[in-house]
Amino acid sequence: MPKIRGIRFPADILEGLLNYAEYIHPKEAFLLLRGKILKEGEIEVKEFVVPPFAVQGEGFSSFSPWFLPFDPSILGTIHSHPSGSLKPSEVDLNHFYGRVMVIVAYPYRSEVDIAAYNKEGERIPVKVIFQ
Ligand SMILES: [Zn+2]
Repeated sequence: MPKIRGIRFPADILEGLLNYAEYIHPKEAFLLLRGKILKEGEIEVKEFVVPPFAVQGEGFSSFSPWFLPFDPSILGTIHSHPSGSLKPSEVDLNHFYGRVMVIVAYPYRSEVDIAAYNKEGERIPVKVIFQ
């Protein structure tokens, strides 16, 4: 499996994500990311999904992947940091699920408030694509 080197968000999905995080604020939003892996090791985001049994606002640790149906198009997770930090917490890193972890931080204005990390814990570039 190729190492993930970047993530691409269509502009409308990015905006939807920022709006959702703002709507859930000051609680922590938690979502799953569906997409595909491109040849260059970049993930192209197709949509974000509210997980069936997630309790919004309870934090990342309440998420259990065993509740999820097997779905190989789920490539990772997205959650918000109402604190404004773009850095993953210890808990985040210990609960890494899938290939990528996206953090959306307060004040949820644009891609500068988004950070993505691969399984190796490296921050990877976030690109916005306009179609
Ligand atoms: Zn976190």
